[in-house]
Amino acid sequence: DPVRFAEVLVVATPCPLLIATPVAFMGGMSSAAKLNVIIKDGGVLEVLARVRSAAFDKTGTLTQGKADVVDIHPSSRTATETLRLAAAAEQYSVHVFADPIVAAARAQQLELPAVTNADEVATNGVLAILAEGTVVRVGKPTFIEEATGPIDRPVLAAGETAVYVSVGEELAGVIILSDPIREQAAATVSRLRRAGVAEIAMVTGDVAPTAKSVAHAIGIDTVHAETTPQTKVEIVQGMRPRPVLMVGDGINDAPVLAAADVGIAMAGRGATVASESAAAVITSNDIARVADVAYVSRRTVQIALQSIWMGIIISVGLMLVAAFGYLPAVVGALLQEIVDLVAIVSALRALRAHTGTKRDRVRR
Ligand code: ADP
Ligand code: MG
Repeated sequence: DPVRFAEVLVVATPCPLLIATPVAFMGGMSSAAKLNVIIKDGGVLEVLARVRSAAFDKTGTLTQGKADVVDIHPSSRTATETLRLAAAAEQYSVHVFADPIVAAARAQQLELPAVTNADEVATNGVLAILAEGTVVRVGKPTFIEEATGPIDRPVLAAGETAVYVSVGEELAGVIILSDPIREQAAATVSRLRRAGVAEIAMVTGDVAPTAKSVAHAIGIDTVHAETTPQTKVEIVQGMRPRPVLMVGDGINDAPVLAAADVGIAMAGRGATVASESAAAVITSNDIARVADVAYVSRRTVQIALQSIWMGIIISVGLMLVAAFGYLPAVVGALLQEIVDLVAIVSALRALRAHTGTKRDRVRR
């Protein structure tokens, strides 16, 4: 019966399949944006929803990155001179420790020597040439040792980290900074575990003792310390199970953020090259957003699937009714539009995708 055939075709709508997913994903991206997480495209949410491993950078990501100079151990120069030289070089750095060192020098009203050339040696530190010709290095012990030969490393308390300063071939001194762990770091890690992330690791450029004490406090067991941008990439690509999420902030994290299945950049202190290469950017300097957005992504995918299935089931049901001759084509045409609308409205629930904890729902 050609009429019956037409009546069945009229309610056979593919729209829920076509439209539910993009609507849900736009909704999910909008939900994330309300949480100050900018997601670069919908596909990111889909991968994020399946993430099974996560790697975190330490300095500026798990720690606040609002460090303070707490002590200076003088070596060949006095404490004041060490700070003055370090600040002169750090003026040209975007590292999270640059600002506190410059601020400490300003607070003491030190006059900084003129610098003719300064280079940020990513992940290592800064190399500055002063107007009078001396070379100042500020950064990691291994970077300083390239100029000075082996040096002693001070024993640090929990929550402290050290920045080494050399002048010429001598160690000028060591600046001790407090770099407190973010309040939400431990909660974020455990929420990710609850969301199904099986493997969580720390991948940091900092030295092992500092890295381990932070990891221990947060509940991360696997620690990779003294990594370079390149070894960070190798470690993250070797992590199993996949997909792997990487969370980082500094220039040294830009390659690994691009290489991970999903990269999230912490850009609370302003956008850096890390935000360029990451798939998602947290603009609010709040690490809890990592777990929030993991929950939003899972909820978004769930809503997309529910909406598709709901549309398909209603549509197939209507096709059966029409096949038995109970659905005139005109009514069918109307109902077909309603099925699409139902799928869209259902997918729009992703606009309110929640974040897995009551506290966060209330805060929103
Ligand atoms: P993460 O990979 O955890 O973000 P980093 O690679 O930034 O850590 O390592 C932190 C260490 O790097 C600090 O303890 C410090 O010694 C050194 N460092 C690197 N660049 C600088 C810089 N510009 N100023 C001071 N310290 C630096
Ligand atoms: Mg960092």
